[in-house]
Amino acid sequence: MNILEVRNLKKYYKLGDNLVKAVDDVSFSVEKGEFLAIIGPSGSGKSTLLHLIGGVDRKDSGEIIVGGEDITKLSNERLAIYRRREVGIIYQFYNLIATLNVEENISISKRLDDKTVEKEEMDEILRRMGLLNRRNNLPNQLSGGEMQRTSIARALINRPSLVLADEPTGNLDTKNSDEIINILREFNKNYKQTIILITHNPEIANQADRVIELVDGKIKSDVRK
Ligand code: ADP
Ligand code: ADP
Repeated sequence: MNILEVRNLKKYYKLGDNLVKAVDDVSFSVEKGEFLAIIGPSGSGKSTLLHLIGGVDRKDSGEIIVGGEDITKLSNERLAIYRRREVGIIYQFYNLIATLNVEENISISKRLDDKTVEKEEMDEILRRMGLLNRRNNLPNQLSGGEMQRTSIARALINRPSLVLADEPTGNLDTKNSDEIINILREFNKNYKQTIILITHNPEIANQADRVIELVDGKIKSDVRK
């Protein structure tokens, strides 16, 4: 089953007199449980593509079908619900809320839905992420690895259809990067969690099931192992 189908997707930006074709007629599908890496030079459209799939940004044309529904047709309000319930996004610089502690950051999408995370579920995710003794700490009291594990917990807590990671290890040393990738692989293996990850690191891309290379907003290669 395809969890995601991207069809003829385009996103252009006007920069003065120039038109930047950030995503230029991109089509591909992703099966449930795939671990997909997106690589390509800086400026090739990787982040723009991920933001479109995550419902953070709007396309110019094309379709993005997630679980059978074209999310590009959703109203802003419905798109906000899609972002909270169906996708988990992991950023290079974590994007944690500075005034909320670890547990509150992890619960944020549930809180915005006027729901709470069950205690057992919170304990389980904190345990898996090695954050049990950090639950009441604020982001500025955490190491980089702990901040990233908090942001991964936030992304995974709702069991989203898609986990989107934009250079999640870009700001971490090798030991912490390996830990992050191992966590993502574990969720991918154990729960058939679909993961789409942008990386510049060839060793990380090598661990994915499939690698799509973008150049100038277009797919240059798409290799499955
Ligand atoms: P990558 O993630 O591969 O580095 P991006 O998706 O960030 O690439 O950017 C693709 C192209 O689109 C770049 O030329 C970038 O400068 C341009 N771009 C991205 N976002 C914007 C924006 N908000 N306004 C104007 N140009 C943008
Ligand atoms: P059950 O369905 O009996 O709760 P699971 O094996 O589905 O058991 O889940 C066990 C734990 O693993 C859950 O409490 C949850 O924290 C985590 N989990 C399961 N599936 C996912 C998923 N897709 N994404 C994130 N976490 C998951």
